[in-house]
Amino acid sequence: MNTPITGIKNYVLLGPPGSGKSTQAGKLKEKFSLAHVDVGSELRKLAESDTELGNRIHEVINVKKELVSDGLIGCVVEHVLKDMDATQGVLIDGAPRRISQVDEVEAALASQGRKIDKVIFLDLSLEEAIKRISIRFLCLNCKAPYIKSDEMPLVCTLCGGEIGQRQDDTPEGVAKRYEVFMAETRPVIEYFEETRMLLRVDASLSPEEIFDFLTEKLS
Ligand code: AMP
Repeated sequence: MNTPITGIKNYVLLGPPGSGKSTQAGKLKEKFSLAHVDVGSELRKLAESDTELGNRIHEVINVKKELVSDGLIGCVVEHVLKDMDATQGVLIDGAPRRISQVDEVEAALASQGRKIDKVIFLDLSLEEAIKRISIRFLCLNCKAPYIKSDEMPLVCTLCGGEIGQRQDDTPEGVAKRYEVFMAETRPVIEYFEETRMLLRVDASLSPEEIFDFLTEKLS
């Protein structure tokens, strides 16, 4: 374990699909100068590679819509943390999502002299999650986010790439991921609630309202 880094804060961000994790992560990152560890996006990047590991991850996240194995999460988190500036706090987006991952994530942080200071939980109903995901689009090339509306461009305004939806963002995909969240991640939420580290937010509020609430609580 490295020497503990003092004076910086490390956060975990959890929420069901569509709860606005990426939006809040972007805002929090800027406000509190945090480095962002986006576990889902790291896994999706791996799933795009035509390797044995990539194909296995693709099968789990895009076909079965389940969670990948715990060991992989510890490795991904530790791998990303290693390259981060030690004077910057981090925001781990999307892990631990299983109670058995709590130790993995804590150990990955501890190996870099860090610990979890708060766990932010964006709480959203299934109905709202499906509604939100049905309008969530992105550039399939540079991953810039778009919301479906009459004004949505036909191609990405940043890179000209095709605009589409994530492979796991179908209504059935969201329902399945929500069910997995309730079964697997709810115990994690309860654990951090018991240890008084949880900051629960009503994710049906507007992004600005959520961010104001979080800024006030974390400042
Ligand atoms: P996300 O971008 O957070 O929606 O994550 C996309 C997918 O990656 C999830 O549906 C899971 O299949 C996988 N995933 C992300 N985080 C984890 C985790 N902590 N443990 C296991 N699988 C994960």
